[in-house]
Amino acid sequence: TARLLDREKQDEDAGELSLRPQRLAEFIGQAQARANMKVFIDAARARGEALDHVLFAGPPGLGKTTLAQIVARELGVNFKMTSGPVIAKAGDLAALLTNLEDRDVLFIDEIHRLNPAVEEILYPAMEDFQLDLIIGEGPAARSVRIDLAKFTLVGATTRTGLLTTPLRDRFGIPIRLNFYTDDELEEIVRRGARVLHMTMTADGAREVARRSRGTPRVAGRLLRRVRDFAAVGGVDEVDRAVADAALGKLEVDSLGLDAMDHRYLRCIGENYGGGPVGIETIAAALSEGKDAIEEVIEPYLLQQGFIGRTPRGRVLTLKAFRHLGLAAPQAIRD
Ligand code: ADP
Repeated sequence: TARLLDREKQDEDAGELSLRPQRLAEFIGQAQARANMKVFIDAARARGEALDHVLFAGPPGLGKTTLAQIVARELGVNFKMTSGPVIAKAGDLAALLTNLEDRDVLFIDEIHRLNPAVEEILYPAMEDFQLDLIIGEGPAARSVRIDLAKFTLVGATTRTGLLTTPLRDRFGIPIRLNFYTDDELEEIVRRGARVLHMTMTADGAREVARRSRGTPRVAGRLLRRVRDFAAVGGVDEVDRAVADAALGKLEVDSLGLDAMDHRYLRCIGENYGGGPVGIETIAAALSEGKDAIEEVIEPYLLQQGFIGRTPRGRVLTLKAFRHLGLAAPQAIRD
């Protein structure tokens, strides 16, 4: 089953300088989610029982995988990680499930992308800790029932709405993650700078935080790149000016929007007069996947008020026109 264990994200943890918090107490931001998780974890531990199944929902890079790992560590149990698209057959999931021990955490990233035949066998596994498998084919086929350990499934999805209702209903603990505030990101950047042995001024950390799209993964990535520019430039201390110069070279603008955000906004602003324009049209014009646009690009732009969603498609706001330095149509200026 090694093939099923998703290694992609582990690259972020490559080397000894991982920015990933290890304990709940080290995890910055998401105060509400953190407080609730602490209660449920403490209660499960006190009872010596498996934690209820947990669903984390929110845009990429907000800490879903990190929290899943923390849950296992706080419970003192094994952590197994896979992802929806990687589990091709029911048998693949069966192999993972039968290898779990009592109270273990099985993390399924992108759980909304499970194939329906696989999802089907997950229902009785989550509800009754039983596996119903059909062995063989045709008249010789027979069904076997296998008892599973009482495990905890932790699922992650970019949007709860993408899950089927029966799957969503089987999670006792649904948790929504939101974009981080500048203050929270500043704390994350300061912590990251310590881990990476960087000397950074308060305003340097603030600058990276402010331009990280409300997302810890982006903050970590920008911090590493700023560190590269500083090292090559022979700079010992990263202050606001150093951070700003590096971020400029990375095409991260003054509000933290990147080159892709600009392509997206300009597409609506310049090609479609500010919209409304349908998501399929935008995806085709940008040669990007509709899912990637909806899951990665749009949530932050919506939250920051650069775009709006209408029944007829996406529209650019006055704030976006101003930020791009484009003349807004009369209808928007009124
Ligand atoms: P997701 O699973 O939601 O896509 P991850 O859990 O993989 O996101 O987090 C992405 C990166 O951001 C990781 O490298 C992690 O170290 C960092 N990170 C996420 N949340 C936090 C946090 N609250 N504090 C510090 N770093 C965080």
